[in-house]
Amino acid sequence: MNKFICKRCGSSNIHIQENGTQIGLYCSDCGAWIKWLGKDDRRLAELQIQNNKDKNKVLESNVDNNDFIDKLLDYVTKSEEDYYELAFKEMDKGNMQGNLVMQAQATAFQRVRYYIQHLLDNNK
Ligand SMILES: [Zn+2]
Repeated sequence: MNKFICKRCGSSNIHIQENGTQIGLYCSDCGAWIKWLGKDDRRLAELQIQNNKDKNKVLESNVDNNDFIDKLLDYVTKSEEDYYELAFKEMDKGNMQGNLVMQAQATAFQRVRYYIQHLLDNNK
C-alpha cells in the first residue's frame, strides 16, 4: 500500500518539499532524498502522507479507548465485589430480601464485566 519507501532507512514516513521548479520527496525519519516527483507521483505521495496521518490517529484513539475500557473494567469488578459483600452482610443479618436486592446488583455488574472482557478479548 505504501508506494514510497526510504531506501536508506526503510521508512514509509515521507514529506514533500519544493525546491524551485522541482518537487522532491524526502524521508521524514532520516531526511534522505527519495526522488523527484512528477504530477502523478505527487498525487500518490500526498495520498500516502494522508493515509499515514489517518493511521496514526486510529492508533492513538485505540490506545485511549483501551485505557478507558481498563478503567471501566476496574470499576465494574470492584462494584461487583462490593455488592456481593453487602449481600453476605444482609444474609448474616437474616434479611433475605436485602440479600436478594444486593445479589441482583452484583449480577448486573457481573454481566457488564463479562461483556467488557468479551470486548477486550476481541480487540487483541
Ligand atoms: Zn529514511
